[in-house]
Amino acid sequence: TDEEGRFAQTHPRSAALAARAQGSLLAGVPMPWMTRWAGSFPVFVDTANGARCVDVDGVEYVDLCLGDTGAMTGHALPEVAEAVARRARNGITTMLPSEDAIWVADELGRRFGLPRWQFAMSATDANRFVLRFARHLTGRPRIAVMDWCYHGTVDETLAVLDGDRVVPRPGAMGPQVDVAITTAVVPFNDLDALDRRLAQGDVACLLMEPALTNIGIVLPDEGYSEGVREITRKHDVLLVIDETHTLCAGPGGCTAAWGLEPDLLVVGKPIAGGVPLAAYGMTTEVAHRLVGPMLTAEADVSGVGGTLTANALALAASRAALSSSLREEDFAVAIPLAERFTAGVAGVIEKHGLPWHVQRLGCRAEYVFCPPPRDGATAAAAVDEELEAFLHLWCLNRQVLLTPFHNMALFSPAHSEADVDRHTEVFGEAVDALVG
Ligand code: PLP
Repeated sequence: TDEEGRFAQTHPRSAALAARAQGSLLAGVPMPWMTRWAGSFPVFVDTANGARCVDVDGVEYVDLCLGDTGAMTGHALPEVAEAVARRARNGITTMLPSEDAIWVADELGRRFGLPRWQFAMSATDANRFVLRFARHLTGRPRIAVMDWCYHGTVDETLAVLDGDRVVPRPGAMGPQVDVAITTAVVPFNDLDALDRRLAQGDVACLLMEPALTNIGIVLPDEGYSEGVREITRKHDVLLVIDETHTLCAGPGGCTAAWGLEPDLLVVGKPIAGGVPLAAYGMTTEVAHRLVGPMLTAEADVSGVGGTLTANALALAASRAALSSSLREEDFAVAIPLAERFTAGVAGVIEKHGLPWHVQRLGCRAEYVFCPPPRDGATAAAAVDEELEAFLHLWCLNRQVLLTPFHNMALFSPAHSEADVDRHTEVFGEAVDALVG
C-alpha cells in the first residue's frame, strides 16, 4: 500500500537492522510484542526523552505509547537517570537488601493502603507469586479471572470463555496447563455469574484488573467493584487487584481513586521509571496468615523471588520515579491532556457518524470500534486488527506513535496540547482517507 511504501522509504536504517535481526533474533525481534508494529518491519529506537522518541533514521515521534505504560512518567526522567547511574557505579546485585526497598514499600503502602510488600522482576512474575500464595493460603486449586483479561504470560490466566467452557485464550501459544482445570473465567460486569461461580467453593482467589484494559478499555458499571468485594468476601475468596496497567487512574491507581479494598495487589510497569520492577502488596491479615502473627520472615514463603529480584538498581530507580513523578500534580497535568484527546477523537468519530467510541481511564485513552463495551467478549468481537494496523501505520508515518495494541494513547506531563492536537489532526486525515 501507499502507507507501506512511505514507511519503507523513510526508514532505510531500520530496514537494514530488521534484515540483520532476522539472522539472530527469534522472529526478528528481541521480544514478541515488537512484531506487532504496523509497518512491514519494526522501527529501531535510538533515543527517547520526555514525550519524544527518535528512531535510527532520525525520525522523531510524539510518543503516545510510552512503552505501553512502562514509561508512563515520560522517558529519561532526569531523577531516574541520575539514580540509575549512581547505583550502577555502586553495585547492583549483592543479594543483600538496600534501604531503598523500605522506602519504596512504604510509599506503595501509602498509595495503595496495603502495609506489606515484596518485589518481583515483572508483573507477570508478581502475578505468578501471588497466585501461589493464594493457593497456599486457601488450599484451593483454582484461580478465577475475568473473560478477556490479561495478567502477563501466566499460564493459568491465558483463558477465555467459550459458552460455559474455559478454553485457551486465542493468540496465546498453547498454555502449558489445562485451563479448564486450573481456571474459572467469569464475564466482567456480571455479579450474578461471579456469585454462582465462586459458590462452587474451589476458587482460591479472584485476580482482576479494576477495569479491563487489554482488550480496549472496559469500565466497571456503577456498583460493580463494590459487588465484587462483597461476593469474594461472602465466599472467602481472596481478591487480588492487578493495577499494572491502571496506574493511569492516579497515584494509587483505581484502588485509591475508587476506594477498592483488595486482599492483595500487584503493580508493575511504570513504578521504576522504565527499569524492570514489580511489587505485590497485601493486608496485615494476609501477611499474618503467610508469615505468622509476629510478621517475621521465618515462616515458609519459598517458591517466589529470583536472583535479580529486588536488585538495588531497580529499587533506586523506583524511589526516584515515585518521588519525582506519578504524583497528584503529575496527573493533574496528564489527565486533562487525555480528556482533550478524547474530545478530539470523539469529534472525528461524530463527524463521520461512525459506530466507534473512545474510552478513557485517567491519563490513558483508546479507540474501540463499537459502542462502549461492558464486557470483554463484546470488546473482543469489535477488534479489527486490519483497521488498527492501518490507523497505527498512518499515525506512525506522520510521526505519532501509538501502542500497537488497540492504538492506546497515554499522556504524561511531558506532553503538550499541541501533541494532542497533532494526533487529532492525523487521526482525522486517516478517517477521511478511509471513509471519505
Ligand atoms: N498485568 C496487566 C494488567 C498487564 O497489562 C500486564 C502487561 O501488559 C501484565 C500484568 C504483565 O506485565 P509484564 O509484561 O511487565 O510482566
